[in-house]
Amino acid sequence: MIKTKILIVEDEPKVAEFIKRGLEENDFGTEIAYDGQTGRSLALSGRFELIILDVNLPHINGFELCRLIRKENEKVPIIMLTALGSVDDKLNGFDAGADDYLIKPFEFRELLARIKALLKRNLKSEAPERLIRIADLEINQESKMVKRGNKKIDLTAKEYALLEYLAKNKNRVISRNDIASRVWDINFDTGTNVIDVYINFLRKKIDKDYDKKLIHTYIGMGYILKDEE
Ligand code: CA
Repeated sequence: MIKTKILIVEDEPKVAEFIKRGLEENDFGTEIAYDGQTGRSLALSGRFELIILDVNLPHINGFELCRLIRKENEKVPIIMLTALGSVDDKLNGFDAGADDYLIKPFEFRELLARIKALLKRNLKSEAPERLIRIADLEINQESKMVKRGNKKIDLTAKEYALLEYLAKNKNRVISRNDIASRVWDINFDTGTNVIDVYINFLRKKIDKDYDKKLIHTYIGMGYILKDEE
């Protein structure tokens, strides 16, 4: 299992260790940066799904670091920690691009709850449209279920992969080369006709019994899945 990695930027070893231990007990991967400089290079490495950022740090303070991270990465959730509980500090944090704010001392479960909430939010906003509709064809990328009209269509894994690739590029002509490398991970140069064979399989299942054809051949160019004439 790949662990969700969290970066802890905190110069007080006790606090950093306390957070690290708690997170690891909850199955997160962690790394600690004890100053702003190290924090910066680690934060910008793109290896972390969330950053916990102390305000008072050597070299670069937390607000400044938060701004620097936001310049490069708008998405990574950032929780700021501070011993100062003033409203000003809180506003500074949000102004710098932090997503949440926690005042020391805090209970670990409070931090954990906020981490989970932020990760969940990010997951939701990152999830692409999982349902593709082309005319009355419906492809659910989550369940891999395909329907045309109200009829469920059974596809093999390869047929599904081919259909999904065409559907993601709907109304665009896709060359055999593209299909070969993206769906089969092979070079078309190998002289195989596997793509044409599979296009025919798909046509039988998706188009044959329907008046409106969705898969079209562009001779010398490739294939297109389209709902426009
Ligand atoms: Ca500090």
